Amino acid sequence: VRKAGLLEFVDVDLDLDDVGGLQNLKRWLSKRNNSWLAEAAEYGIPAPKGVLMTGIPGCGKSLTAKAVAAAWELPLLRLDIGKVFAGLVGSSEQNMRSAIRTAEAAAPCILWLDEIEKGFSGLSGDGDSGTSSRVFGSFLTWMQEKTTPVFVIATANKVDRLPPEFLRKGRFDEIFFVDLPTRLERRDIWSLHLSKRLQRSKAANLDISESLLDTLADVTEGYAGAEIEQAVVAALFDAFADRRQLKDDDLVRSIRNMVPLSVTQAEEIA
Ligand code: ATP
Repeated sequence: VRKAGLLEFVDVDLDLDDVGGLQNLKRWLSKRNNSWLAEAAEYGIPAPKGVLMTGIPGCGKSLTAKAVAAAWELPLLRLDIGKVFAGLVGSSEQNMRSAIRTAEAAAPCILWLDEIEKGFSGLSGDGDSGTSSRVFGSFLTWMQEKTTPVFVIATANKVDRLPPEFLRKGRFDEIFFVDLPTRLERRDIWSLHLSKRLQRSKAANLDISESLLDTLADVTEGYAGAEIEQAVVAALFDAFADRRQLKDDDLVRSIRNMVPLSVTQAEEIA
């Protein structure tokens, strides 16, 4: 990983087509590209600021951030918010300023603020609410006034931990809620991961039929994309362990052996 101060350059080798479901988000992003970032002002439209994606872990927020960078052919710089607040008291604001300077120096680029709720949860030494609002207040002001082509993607698991100024209209160009996949989206995700993995697997004699995809989508209600991917890997592992071809049953079994995070979390709350 290449580091630049508090930021790291993330390598990406995928595209928006590698993201299953999330049609609205993908449509919004695919209508835009890096020339929008560079030329908006010449067309009399507001300069792009960025998007906020929030929602359940493992449903494709990070994947989308990477896919946008790949589709727009821009470097992706990731900022771990925890690190901004991890230093001495008073240094958080300086850390954020320096991260912004680094991103501006790398422009045109995408600045990805990952897990922004970490800045508000009080988990970090310097993360009291006064500091948080100063740090993010100056960040949001920069975002609105910036003239350099830096597109911000902010991701957060818990929208209820975010202060209202993040959600106010006019801050981000758009806010997307990345929820657990619907049946159709799960079908899409199964199909993506199966074809990707089977392409390079010696256990690949499986026919990814429409009816198999229907069954798999049916049995994975409540499962996140990351869990579907995990199930494909687990099934392939079983086939590998027995030195045989992958069967439909392996996939269904690996799903039955897995309790989805959404259920674990619901049980914790209850
Ligand atoms: P977290 O908040 O935990 O980082 P996230 O929403 O950012 O979660 P990702 O990191 O994007 O989730 O997902 C993890 C992996 O799960 C991805 O790399 C991808 O392989 C798979 N995955 C998740 N959602 C999707 C999706 N919609 N389409 C295809 N694959 C997916």
